[in-house]
Amino acid sequence: MKYSSLVEIYDRLNETSKRLEKIEIISEFLRKVKKDELKGVVYLLEGRIFPEGDKRKIGFSNRLMIKALNVASGDGADKIENLFRKKGDLGLVAEEVFKKRKQATLSARELDSGKVLENIRKLAGLEGKGTVDRKIRLITELLANANGKEAKYVVKTVLENLRIGVSSGIIKEGIAKGFEASVDEVEKAADLSGDYGDVAELASAKKLSSVGMKVGKPVKCMLALLAESIDECFESLGEKIQLENKIDGFRLQCHFDGDKIKLFTRRMEDVSEQFPDIVEFLKRHVKGDNYILDAEAVGYDNKSGKYLPFQTVSQRIKRKYNIKEMAGKFPVELDLFDVLYYNGKNLMDAELSERRKILEGIVKEKKKEIVLTKKLVTDDKKKADEWFKKILKLGFEGVMAKNLESKYRPGRYVGGWMKLKSTLEPLDLIIVKAEFGEGKRAGWLTSYTVACKSGDRLLDVGKVSTGVKEKTEGLTYKEMTRVLKPLIEKQKGKEAEIKPKVIIEVGYEEIQKSPTYSSGWALRFPKVLQLRADKPLSEISDLKLIKKIYNYQRGKNKQ
Ligand code: AMP
Repeated sequence: MKYSSLVEIYDRLNETSKRLEKIEIISEFLRKVKKDELKGVVYLLEGRIFPEGDKRKIGFSNRLMIKALNVASGDGADKIENLFRKKGDLGLVAEEVFKKRKQATLSARELDSGKVLENIRKLAGLEGKGTVDRKIRLITELLANANGKEAKYVVKTVLENLRIGVSSGIIKEGIAKGFEASVDEVEKAADLSGDYGDVAELASAKKLSSVGMKVGKPVKCMLALLAESIDECFESLGEKIQLENKIDGFRLQCHFDGDKIKLFTRRMEDVSEQFPDIVEFLKRHVKGDNYILDAEAVGYDNKSGKYLPFQTVSQRIKRKYNIKEMAGKFPVELDLFDVLYYNGKNLMDAELSERRKILEGIVKEKKKEIVLTKKLVTDDKKKADEWFKKILKLGFEGVMAKNLESKYRPGRYVGGWMKLKSTLEPLDLIIVKAEFGEGKRAGWLTSYTVACKSGDRLLDVGKVSTGVKEKTEGLTYKEMTRVLKPLIEKQKGKEAEIKPKVIIEVGYEEIQKSPTYSSGWALRFPKVLQLRADKPLSEISDLKLIKKIYNYQRGKNKQ
C-alpha cells in the first residue's frame, strides 16, 4: 500500500477527537486493505511496528533523528536544531523540512508502507560497529522518497510518538465494525493473542473464534477489582468464597511445552532467560507433559528470608548480563495460584475450584522455591475477617478474594477476583511531565506530574516529588532521570513534557477533590513508592478507582 494512503488516514484521525468518528474511519479503511498487508497496517495505525510484548526495541533517539534529518535534507544541523527548539517535535520539523519536496523529486519513488515497516524493523536488529551509520541510512532511505506529511509520520513512528489518539479500544472497535464481528469476539481474541495485527487478519477471514491457547504464547492476565471490605467480597463474589494471601511481587505466566519452559511478565514480555532459577524450580517441582500456570514471583532477603518489595527484584526483569550473579544476589520464590492449561487441555472455562484442585495435585511445594498461595474457602464472614487479619500480621499486603465458580478471564476486570488491602490502595500513575531540580539537583528530573486514565484519555492528578532519594538505596533521582530523559518530548525552561511510558506507584494520605487538575482529584502528601516497569499502560489506575477510594476513605473517616 502506498504510504500516502495511510498518511491520509492519520490526518483524518488527527482531525477528529470523536471516538465514533475515529472508529468509522478505521473500519472503513481496514476493509480496503489487502489481506497480506493488513497486519502491518494495523501495527502502523497503532503507532508500533512490532506486536505488544515483543522484546525488540527501535532504539532511535532524538539526537540521532536530528542527524538523520540533517543528512536526508542537507539543511544543516543548526537549522534542524533551531526548528526543533521552536516546534518541540521532530515530526513537525521533518514536515517543515521536506515540505518543498513535493514537486522537486521527480526521480523519487513513491513511499510504500511495507518499506516503512521493513526499514524501521531493521533498526531494532542492529548491533555493534557502524550501527549509528546504518541506522541513519535506513531512515534517510525512507525520507529520500517522502514528502512533508509522509516525513512527519515516518519520524513520529520511528520515535514511537505517533499520537493520533488511537487507543487499543478504538482499534478493537474499528476491527469489529470493519469486519462485522462483535466487539466482544474481537476483545476475547485480543486477550488471548495480544496482537491486534493477528486479530484483524482473523476477523477479516471470519476466524476469530479459532484463536486458541497455545503453550509458549502468552495470554493476558486476569485482573482484580478493589474491594473495600470482607463484606463487599461476599456481596460481589458469592456466599462461599476463596481467600488467598496477596503476594506483592510481579506476575509471571509460566509455560511448559514438554521441552522448554518460558516465563512471561504481565506485559507478555519473555523473561525466561532472566530467571533461570525459576525455570529450574518449575522443572523440579511441577509435574506434567505441558502446562500454563499463573503466579507471582517475589524476592526475599538472602539473610533474613524476609520478602522484599517489588523494586528490589525488578532489576532482574530487564537484566541481560551477569544473570547468574543477579539470581544469587536477589533470589525469588514463585507463588503459584492458577492453572490455565494442563496436559493438552484448556482450563480457562473450568471453575476456579476445579483449577485450584488440579494445581494442588501437580505441585510439590518447597519453601523459598515454589509454593502455592495460602487459601481459605469459607462462607463465614467472621472467619474470613480473622484470616484477613492473620495474613496482614504475617506481613502480606492483603488478600485476594475469588469467586469459586469463576472462569479464567484474561485481561479483564470481570469481578471474579477482588483484592482487599488494609491501607489505602496506592495508585499506579503515569508520568506525563517532569521538572528539573535546582542547585545541586540541577541535572536531575526531581518532580513529576502524574496522570490516571479515563477511557482513552490521561488526566492529571498532581505533582509528586517526595519518595525519590538523592543517593544511596532505593529509587534515586539519577535513576528517574535516566529513565525519563530519553522520553522528553518538549522542554520549556525547567519543565519537560514526557512521553507517557513510565508508570510509578504513588502512595498518599488522602484523596481530595480538586479543580486544579484535569482529573478533578488531587492527592494529599503524594509519595513515589516505586517504579512499576512491569505494568502496561492499560493497567494504570482509572478515575473510577480514585472515586471509589475517595468514597471509601470518607466512609472510614465517619466511623
Ligand atoms: P494490584 O497489582 O495491586 O492491582 O493487585 C492485583 C495483582 O496482585 C494481580 O494482578 C497479581 O499480579 C497479584 N497477586 C498477588 N497475589 C495474588 C493471588 N493470590 N492471586 C491472584 N493475583 C495475585
